[in-house]
Amino acid sequence: MRLPTRRNFLLSLTALFGASLFGSRLNGRALSAVGTPPATTGPFQLTEMPYGYAELEPHLDELTMAIHHVRHHGGQVANLNRELERFPRLAELSIEEVMKQVSTFNASVRNNGGGHYNHDIFWRVMAPAGQRGEVSAPLLRAIERDFGSFEAMRERFFQVSGGHFGSGWGWLILKPDGSLAITSTPNQDNPLMDIVAERGTPLLGIDVWEHAHYLAFQNRRGAYIAQWWQTVNWNKVSELYARGSIL
Ligand code: MN
Repeated sequence: MRLPTRRNFLLSLTALFGASLFGSRLNGRALSAVGTPPATTGPFQLTEMPYGYAELEPHLDELTMAIHHVRHHGGQVANLNRELERFPRLAELSIEEVMKQVSTFNASVRNNGGGHYNHDIFWRVMAPAGQRGEVSAPLLRAIERDFGSFEAMRERFFQVSGGHFGSGWGWLILKPDGSLAITSTPNQDNPLMDIVAERGTPLLGIDVWEHAHYLAFQNRRGAYIAQWWQTVNWNKVSELYARGSIL
């Protein structure tokens, strides 16, 4: 019998979780704690991570990232696909379109569809060191116009995300009139939904549920927000701004 080499072990992890985990530092014990994404068939797919779970360290830890992606996001995708039986038209809609008419579905689509959209954007607005880029000139001009300065925008984002009561998300949004705003939403709601008070296209979103930070930061949400801010992929945020409002 051949003993598994480190390379074979990593290749089998890659087969289980996709290429993103290649080079992971998770050991076997941590891996068994994470498990695998729930099996699901349907139009909605768990986002393939654009980087490895360990690549946001030292700001966000690998185990939190893995559990968050595989169990939390994976569970929401599986639950959302289950609603296809009740709502066959889900098969023809993008997740953005589902969000924009979420009031025509049920609580499960609101919570699990919201969770899918929110986590998908969350993974994409973070990036490993060296790939985070800078705020584009047009986005910076809009930030200075609407908040006074980049620093004032950052302070407002920390205030609103840190001050949100209970589980939810903090957002930088592009409103349909072209202005920027910082808002928060409860649970898995988001500013694209036709049921929220202040609507807009998300450019940046932070998950402030405890599962996003409890392993490394426990209840210190402010410390988590400050570390998370270091991982923001300003290239992606600028790209979302350049795409314009989708409302
Ligand atoms: Mn989450």
